[in-house]
Amino acid sequence: MAQTPSRTAVADRGDTVLHEAAVLVAGQRLDSEFQPVVNPARVHEVVGRVAMGTGEHVDRAVAAASAAFPAWSQLSAHERAEHLARAAGAITAAAGPLAELLTREQGKVLWESRVDVGGAAHILGYYTGLAERLAEDEVFRSDSRGTIFSGRRPMGVTGVIVPWNSPVYLAFLGISPALLAGNTVVVKPSELAPLTLSAVLEMLAAKLPEGVVNVVPGGGEAGAAIAAHPGIRKVFFTGSTATGQQVMRAAAGNLKNVSLELGGNDPAIVLESAVVTDRLVDELVQSVFTASGQICFNVKRIYVHRSHYDRFVERYTAAVDRLVVGDGLDPRSTIGPVNNRPQFERILGLLDRTRAAGATVRVLGTALDPDTWDDGYFLRPTVVTDVEPGAELVSCEQFGPVVPVLPFDSDDEVVGLANATEFGLAASVWSEDREHALRIARRLECGSVFINVHRIGASDVSMPFGGFKGSGIGRGHGITALEACTELQTIADYV
Ligand code: NAD
Repeated sequence: MAQTPSRTAVADRGDTVLHEAAVLVAGQRLDSEFQPVVNPARVHEVVGRVAMGTGEHVDRAVAAASAAFPAWSQLSAHERAEHLARAAGAITAAAGPLAELLTREQGKVLWESRVDVGGAAHILGYYTGLAERLAEDEVFRSDSRGTIFSGRRPMGVTGVIVPWNSPVYLAFLGISPALLAGNTVVVKPSELAPLTLSAVLEMLAAKLPEGVVNVVPGGGEAGAAIAAHPGIRKVFFTGSTATGQQVMRAAAGNLKNVSLELGGNDPAIVLESAVVTDRLVDELVQSVFTASGQICFNVKRIYVHRSHYDRFVERYTAAVDRLVVGDGLDPRSTIGPVNNRPQFERILGLLDRTRAAGATVRVLGTALDPDTWDDGYFLRPTVVTDVEPGAELVSCEQFGPVVPVLPFDSDDEVVGLANATEFGLAASVWSEDREHALRIARRLECGSVFINVHRIGASDVSMPFGGFKGSGIGRGHGITALEACTELQTIADYV
């Protein structure tokens, strides 16, 4: 594989600069096969191209990361934090154009892309503030015989495998604590939204010693090679439950430590003690339809106490009907297209089967530009009622702008319905009675419960986040993520 100098955008086609997500190893771009990255709002527009990384690329990246590990891990946490803070500043300075690029490759509306890119810089900044934690040892016993204490040590080369839905933000939830703790990384962006993340990673790599950050974009081949690689000690994987299971199997080969952030089927529960206000309705519109439903902790099903049900459905469908679907770069759009054809076709098939089973399927909202509607993966927001609690639409992770709304009669019934799923990522409880909401929250089998909120911004980088059951293993965010990419070492000092 020949090496070419690093650069951020490569090919000129007339006046259009095409972006490139390349294999980046020790600051050098490696040769590879490429495939196009298209704009989901106009699928004939090629935004850039992505390297389809191979096992050989992963070998090269792991070798570079291993070579960089001794020097990086021996810096103090404060010295590493200084490097990371400089990178956070560079990302923030470029956030505007990066967010536009993200909308063009991922589809989400511009404010959502700004949250994604700005969030990455924020996460990096947050972890630089935790350097002191790594410098501290915990003393268990200290007396005339000696001292026994423990401290956190880096694991080594860490793989970070990223999905396409919030690529920059999610990548930095793994990368930031891993680097602060003294690990070096091999990052694999998804082939479906790799361009913005790769541009950000090139900026990060340029601010750090050579080989500390390496990038192998591509599909399952590169991801599987990372999961199985004997030179990698830890994998942060974010993606579907099915792929997470494959990662865990492959990681067993060298007993890699894994953190798995997987799929969700989050319920929102509107209790009898709730008051159905405009705010409640608007919050539940946002929490379902932000990013066209393609966030792991979007609400995927709404349960409403029968005393509120009819009125809720009327007000909710009216609010959803005000959404405008269009190109995410157009400020009039409130939701963009879904990201890719398989996802688009999956949702349409799911709705066909739901209609055929007798449910009421209301396709709502407005198409911003009917003339170019068929050029993109646009789906109008859809609310489904008269659906069985065990129906496919209710029990699967739809990952699209579709939500079922179901009535319930008692607390026990709704707790049973909410927990009757293979997933356990998050949930929300809606009530004016805090004690009632907390009683329900504590009975839910999921990693996070929100009360009277359930949207981006409700979670925080300091808040442990992750899933029960099929939604994952381990907790990301905050100090828990820092612990998850370090080993605890105990020293019994009898000098
Ligand atoms: P996916 O599982 O298809 O892919 C995720 C990543 O894994 C991609 O980079 C992909 O190329 C790679 N991959 C594919 N096959 C692999 C293999 N055999 N070994 C290793 N890596 C492999 O998921 P997706 O469609 O990109 O993302 C959507 C899913 O991610 C949804 O289920 C969503 O809920 C989940 N997600 C979870 C969280 C969370 O925090 N829990 C956050 C965002 C997304």
